[in-house]
This record gives sequence, C-alpha cells and structure tokens, in this order.
Amino acid sequence: MKRHNAAIELDTVRFSFGQAEMLFNLQLGAGETGVIVGPSGSGKSTLLNLIAGFETPQSGRIRIGNADISNEPPANRPVTMVFQENNLFAHLDVRSNIGLGRSPSLKLSNTDQAAIQTAIDRVELTGKEHRKPAELSGGERQRVAIARALVRDKPVLLLDEAFASLGPALRQQMLDLIRDLQRETGITILMVTHTPEDALRFNSTLLFLANGEIKAQGDAAMMLSSSGPQAIRDYMGTTGHKLL
Ligand code: ADP
Ligand code: MG
Repeated sequence: MKRHNAAIELDTVRFSFGQAEMLFNLQLGAGETGVIVGPSGSGKSTLLNLIAGFETPQSGRIRIGNADISNEPPANRPVTMVFQENNLFAHLDVRSNIGLGRSPSLKLSNTDQAAIQTAIDRVELTGKEHRKPAELSGGERQRVAIARALVRDKPVLLLDEAFASLGPALRQQMLDLIRDLQRETGITILMVTHTPEDALRFNSTLLFLANGEIKAQGDAAMMLSSSGPQAIRDYMGTTGHKLL
C-alpha cells in the first residue's frame, strides 16, 4: 500500500441547515488521529460530511494535504468515509461490495483482486466472500465496510460512529486494525465515537464538539483525565463514562 501524508485543515468553515450556525476551525497533522466526541446534535456528523464533501460550507476553506478541496465533489476528494450502518449494497456479495472501493464498475484487474483478497483476510471474512449483507451479522457488515476502505487506500479515513453497533471486543479489534493500518500507511483519521475511551487506543487528539463548534481540543489522555476541561468532565458525567 501507498504511504500517505495528508494533514486536514478547516479554516473558518461556516455551515448552517437554516438554524444555528456551525463554525469549524481544525488542524490535524498528517498521520494523526482525531477523536470527536460531544452531545447528540452538536454537529459531529456535519463536520465529517463537510470534509467528505456531502455538505458544502457557506464560507471558509477545507484543505487536505496542501490542496484546497473546498469545491471538489466527494468522489474527487482523497477521503473514505464509513458510516454507522448502511454502507453496503444489499444485492452485492462481500467480494463485490469491497470491489466497489477499487472500481465503481467492478472491472477489477488482477492487482485489484489480490488487494481485495488481502483486505478480506485482514478483516477475517475469509470464506464469506459470496455472502450478501443480509447473511452477515452487523459486525461482519462493518468489517466489509472497513475492507472496502482498505482497498480504496485514500489518505484520509473518516469514521462516523462506525463501530457503535459492535460489542466491546469486536470494537477494540476494529480499532486495533485501523491503528495498525495507520502505522503502515500513515493515513490521517478523524472518527466520531460515543465511547470516549476509544480515543485511548490511539495516540490521539480529542476534539470536543458542542453547539456546532470545537470547544476543546488536546491530547486525549489529558483531556479525559480529571485535569481535563470542565466541559468534557460535564459531558462525561452525562454519558456515564468514567474519567481516567
Ligand atoms: P451529531 O452527529 O453531533 O449528532 P449532526 O451533525 O447530525 O449532529 O447534526 C447537527 C445539527 O444539524 C442538529 O441540530 C441536527 O438536527 C441538524 N441536522 C442534521 N442533518 C440535518 C439535515 N439534513 N437537515 C436539517 N438539519 C439537520
Ligand atoms: Mg452523528
């Protein structure tokens, strides 16, 4: 796989669905992991959607690597996004769903086929290549989505509560897989999670969102400790998660 090197920068990005305005300033270095937490409705998914190009800022610039991609359509952005669910096409089997990450028309070269098989093995779906999504568990479906992200091999990986439906053991296994992938390829990761301790499986930056803005940002272990910002402690209290 390629070696990636793409920082993410949001410079005064304003966006609104017609009500409260969101305003994002963000800098995440190449090869780093940003873990986004915050109350429901605070704008976490919107932030990822702006980076992926599924929403368009009213003003401000978005840069990935050194390129201003603010006006690029989603397909041209060096980004892969994995959602909490519905990542797969129901009528396609595992192999084809992953193959779409390589070629939208599923015209796959031998190199593509080999990359797909490697990804299947990597997410431990070997032997299930010909199953349809309905014949998989929720965790297996998410592993197909991750395998597709692997074969896309883009510099930036966005995960929007991608592992929320998995049990704790499988969630940790997926986080470790992503972390290993990052070490090998240098991808930059931005992930939304409801379980702040996910941040500690990486050497990560925690981003705390509230009311459409990043209110606090810093080393995750520090931010989640009892000496972290009061806003995060208050938020953790409401989620039932314990501080370190
Ligand atoms: P989060 O992911 O943090 O739960 P979202 O980014 O999904 O929050 O939503 C942020 C705010 O924007 C919320 O108030 C939500 O109701 C609103 N919102 C999200 N999507 C839409 C949409 N398609 N149309 C109108 N409002 C939306
Ligand atoms: Mg969301």
